[in-house]
Amino acid sequence: MNEPTDTIKSHAPLRPSGIKPETCMACGTCSAGCPITGMEGFDPRKIVRMVLENRDQELIDSKLPWLCTMCGKCEHACPMGINIINIIRDIRGQVDRDKVPGQIHKGVELCLETGNNIGLPGEDFTFIIGDVAEEMAEEEGFEDFVPPIDKKGASLLHTLHNKLVNTQNEDLVHWWKIFHAAKEDFTMTSENWEGVNWGLFSGDDEAMKIIVGRIVDHMDTLRIEHLMYPE
Ligand code: SF4
Ligand code: SF4
Repeated sequence: MNEPTDTIKSHAPLRPSGIKPETCMACGTCSAGCPITGMEGFDPRKIVRMVLENRDQELIDSKLPWLCTMCGKCEHACPMGINIINIIRDIRGQVDRDKVPGQIHKGVELCLETGNNIGLPGEDFTFIIGDVAEEMAEEEGFEDFVPPIDKKGASLLHTLHNKLVNTQNEDLVHWWKIFHAAKEDFTMTSENWEGVNWGLFSGDDEAMKIIVGRIVDHMDTLRIEHLMYPE
């Protein structure tokens, strides 16, 4: 019987040395290091074995790839250097977008549309940043603090995790205090400020490229050399 060609096994990008999953020796080291092995039948060794057996559709239809946190412990531990995360992303990328669980795909759509995963309008973003900064400036030692936005030639671009401008404003203050104390010449941007790329997690390569491209554009346009990425 001929081997099917367009399979996860054949096209999951492999790194760092082009090692193919066929080299898996079923040792289980990946499973031993995985923090969620055993949860709802999840096991990275099992996933690699299913890929080797061309059980692609079974994997695509299952919830297994969505249980993975993409922490990378499995492939760090794998003696054969098999790129398990790329395999899992490849499976995720083949799932119909309306079947992507939770709000990951919705967040991707919102990010493409509005520049952030929660669809926060620009005027609300500006208001929140100003409000949080005002509160911080009331504290001793931070009276002169003004949050830099779209500052040309800054040293560091601070991309934001959406929760910093949503439910966890106090974490935004923590970062600003650190930058202030370190005299870090940083800036945020008024548009496309999202630093969390859910295209990465949902397996959506095209969206991931667009979202990364926006950050590259910021760095080019504002002539910034260093990037702080929240995840
Ligand atoms: S650690 Fe690597 S070689 Fe061992 S079972 Fe897992 S994927 Fe296969
Ligand atoms: S990346 Fe996924 S499979 Fe690998 S150790 Fe982390 S949770 Fe487990």
